[in-house]
Amino acid sequence: MQKTDKYEIISELAKRRGFFWPSYEIYGGVSGFLTYGPLGTKLKQRIEAKFRDFFIKPLNILEMESSIVMPAKVFEASGHVKAFREPMVECRKCKRKFRADHLLQEQAQMSDTQTEKLSLQGGAKELKKHGIRCPECGGELGKPQYFMTMFSTSIGPYSDAVGYGRPEAAQGVFVEFKRLYETARGKLPLGVVQMGHALRNEISPRQGPIRLREFTIADIEFFFDPKEPQCPLLKKEIGKETLRLIPAEMKRKDARRAEQVTVKEALRKGYIKTEWQAYFMVLAKHFLKELGVPDDSQRFIEKLEWERAHYSSQGYDQEIYLDRWGWTEVSGHNCRTDYDLRQHMEHSGVDMQVFKEYDRPKLAKKLTIEPILAKIGPTFKKEASEVTALLSEANVQEVENSLKTKGYYMAGSFKILPEHIRIMHKEIEESGRRFLPHVVEPSFGIDRLLYAALEYAYEKRNERTLLKLPRELAPVQVGVYPLVTKGGLTKKACQLHRMLMKEGFSVEYDEAGSIGRRYARADEAGTPLCITVDYRTLKDNTVTIRDRDSWKQVRTRTERLPETIRAYLSYTKNFKDMGESP
Ligand SMILES: [Zn+2]
Repeated sequence: MQKTDKYEIISELAKRRGFFWPSYEIYGGVSGFLTYGPLGTKLKQRIEAKFRDFFIKPLNILEMESSIVMPAKVFEASGHVKAFREPMVECRKCKRKFRADHLLQEQAQMSDTQTEKLSLQGGAKELKKHGIRCPECGGELGKPQYFMTMFSTSIGPYSDAVGYGRPEAAQGVFVEFKRLYETARGKLPLGVVQMGHALRNEISPRQGPIRLREFTIADIEFFFDPKEPQCPLLKKEIGKETLRLIPAEMKRKDARRAEQVTVKEALRKGYIKTEWQAYFMVLAKHFLKELGVPDDSQRFIEKLEWERAHYSSQGYDQEIYLDRWGWTEVSGHNCRTDYDLRQHMEHSGVDMQVFKEYDRPKLAKKLTIEPILAKIGPTFKKEASEVTALLSEANVQEVENSLKTKGYYMAGSFKILPEHIRIMHKEIEESGRRFLPHVVEPSFGIDRLLYAALEYAYEKRNERTLLKLPRELAPVQVGVYPLVTKGGLTKKACQLHRMLMKEGFSVEYDEAGSIGRRYARADEAGTPLCITVDYRTLKDNTVTIRDRDSWKQVRTRTERLPETIRAYLSYTKNFKDMGESP
C-alpha cells in the first residue's frame, strides 16, 4: 500500500472542513484554480493581516491596489512579454501538454538548476537521452517549444488592444511610481506593497495550492537611493541574527547543506549584496516561524545567473520543507536595481527619476553645447531659432560622437556642422541630483503560506486530528457549547455566544453530538479554545475552558472571559492562568 503523505491528508481535511478545494468540481474541475471555503477564507485573511503587521506597519510601507488586467505596453516595457515563458512538450498520441523541465526533474532526476540552463534544443536532447515519454499515456513526445505563461485578453471590443493578466503585482507599483513618490512627499527609502490576485497560465499544474494559475501575491517594492544603500535597522536590530543560506558559490559546488551565517557575515562575505535585502530576509524567516515553520525547516537558496528572473541582479528563494514536494519556495527576494523604472521611463518617455537636494549646492563641470549664432544665423536664416532650441535639448555626448564619426549631426532635419557649435565644459551650480531609485523586492505567495501553515499545524494524537495553528491565525477562535441540550443550558450558551461575538471574537456555537465529538471537530478546525456551559454555570456563572493543544481544562467566571481570551490569543497569558482547575 502506498504511504499517504501529508499533502493528501491536508487536502482531504481541507475539503471536508471547508478550508479549500479544487474549483468548478461540478464541471469536472480545472487544475490550477482553488476555492477557499469559510475556514480557508478566514485563515487567509488572518495570514494577510499578519503580513501587514509584520512588514508594513514597522516600516511605514504604503499599500496600494491596481488592476489585474494591464495593457500590453506595460509588459512589453517590463520585459515579461519576451521572458515570461516556459518550455512545453506535446504528446503526439494523447495531445496532452507538459512542462519539459518538470518532466526532466521528475523522470530524469535533474535539478531545477540544471533544467533552467537548457535551451529548447538542449531540452529536446535530454528528453531523448532519458527516453522520456508521456506520463499519462506513454506516447511519444514532440519537440519542446516556448509557451508564454501570461494570460492574454483583448481590452474592450478592439482585438488589437491586447491586455495581459498581471503575473506579479510589482508592475502595478512601478508604473504608478511617480504618484506614489509624490504621495510620500519625496521621501526615500520608500516601501510600497501590493497584495492581490495574480495570474500565470501554467502549462500543467498538478501541485494543488503550490502551483496555481490564479493566486494571491504580496509584492513589496522597497525603493532606496543607490548611493545610500545602508539599512539603519540592521545594526540595531538584526546584525547578529543568523540565516541558513546556500549562496551561489556553494550551490555551484552542488552543496546541499545550508550554512548558518550571521547577517553581518553574509554581507561581509558578499553572500548578500544589499543590506535591505538581508533585512527583509531576516524578517521573512521570523514571519514563517510565526506561521509555524521552525528555523531548521527553512533556508534561503541563491539563484544562479541563468535561474534569475530577467529583472534581477541577485535573488534568493526562501524555501521551506514540505512533506510531498521537499524544499519549496514560499518567497523570493530579488534585487531589481533600477531595471523596471528605467524600462518604463524609456518606453513611456516619462521621466521617472527622483530629485534629491544637496545640503548645500555643489559646483559641477558639465559638457554643454554653445551655438555659434554668427554661423547658425546665415545658414538657417528663419529657422535659426528652431535649430538652437533643438540643440539645447540634444544629448551632448551624441552630438560629439556624431561630429567625430560622421562629420555632422542631425538636429531634427537640420544638418549641423562642426563650425556651427562649440562643445565646452562649463561650471554650473547644482542644487541636487537626479537619479532612479534602486529596488529590493520581497515577494510572497500567500496560498503557499496558507498551505504551509496547515501542514505544519497538523498533528495526529490518539487517532485524532489536531490543527495546532498559531493562536492568532485560527479561523475560529472560540467554540461555545452547552454540555447537553436540556435544563436551560442551550439558552445560557447562546447568550455567551452572542456576548463573545459582540466582543469581537470569531465564535462558533455547536450543540450537535456528544461533547467529545464537538471537541474533536474543534481540534480539526484549529479552534484554540472551547467553552462549555454546564449545570454549575447556572448556579455560579462559571464555565470550563478547554485547551486545544493540551486538552486540559480550567474553570473561570463568564465575565472574565473577554479579557482572558484576548490575552491568551495574543500570547500574553498561558492557558493554566486562565482560571482555576475544575
Ligand atoms: Zn500522452
